[in-house]
Amino acid sequence: MTAKIIDGKAAAAALRGEVAAEVARFRTAEGRAPGLAVVLVGDDPASAVYVRAKGKATVEAGMESFEHRLSAGTSETDLLALVDRLNADPAVDGILVQLPLPPQIDANKVITRIDPDKDVDGFSPVNAGRLAIGLHGFVPCTPLGCLKLLRAELGDLSGKSAVVIGRSNIVGKPLALLLLGDSATVTIAHSRTKDLPAVVRQADIVVAAVGKPQMVRGDWLKPGATVIDVGINRIEGRLVGDVDFTSASDVAGAITPVPGGVGPMTIACLLRNTFVSAARRENFSYGKSL
Ligand code: NDP
Repeated sequence: MTAKIIDGKAAAAALRGEVAAEVARFRTAEGRAPGLAVVLVGDDPASAVYVRAKGKATVEAGMESFEHRLSAGTSETDLLALVDRLNADPAVDGILVQLPLPPQIDANKVITRIDPDKDVDGFSPVNAGRLAIGLHGFVPCTPLGCLKLLRAELGDLSGKSAVVIGRSNIVGKPLALLLLGDSATVTIAHSRTKDLPAVVRQADIVVAAVGKPQMVRGDWLKPGATVIDVGINRIEGRLVGDVDFTSASDVAGAITPVPGGVGPMTIACLLRNTFVSAARRENFSYGKSL
């Protein structure tokens, strides 16, 4: 193995520490804590685990966590009414509705109803549009975490060639726009891309956000490439990414492990977005490195 391992756990801990320090300053100046409301509808076990982890991390950063647990049979009207109340609540700076939602609820309608300036997941059409045209808004947490890892590893991304495999609205597309914003030359690959290994082999930066265990192999990579593995797949009781770590780490210059790479950055970026929302709402100035 020759690649440097990109330690997402350490990067996430550092970001969380930075957020906590800013939150402490905010509380002193504003006399209140930033608040994140998390809404969970139904009892999907994976969603319950995520919501618990987000609540715990929010409190650890010195912020207020408001959890709303609704039954699986909740109507769309009732959920929209809760979103309206949270939009109007001055103690709430960030609103996150955990996906997936039960079939009787139109997730797009709910996400669109969240005040874009409290949409710390960055999934609303307004924030997607802001990202596309380069305005300040909220960027989805996983792509933001990937960008931070890449900047920390490579510094200036300008002129680098990047291939993002995957074009979902929550990972691939926003990440491609972020990389473009940093002046990388970006290719977005997907299930219809022809000769994917040849496309990947051109790239200085490879991001895999596919959902196919260990798909990207070492012989697809340009020697020295930086590889960000977003995938989380469970096989035979263990977690693996979308990259075949063993063969890839013989060729890559640097690579994120799974677990311990992108995953921990996602929650850290959610805390960052929640603090930034509070700071923007109160005109509170904060460190640019966030
Ligand atoms: P989606 O299923 O929404 O998107 C997957 C993308 O991969 C699609 O654009 C699809 O193409 C493309 N794709 C599928 N098969 C192939 C293939 N054989 N070759 C090339 N492209 C292919 O997934 P998400 O974006 O939501 O998630 C991607 C992965 O990231 C998953 O493993 C998920 O668990 C993980 N994840 C991790 C997070 C974290 O915090 N670390 C957060 C979010 C997701 P097409 O559009 O043509 O169908």
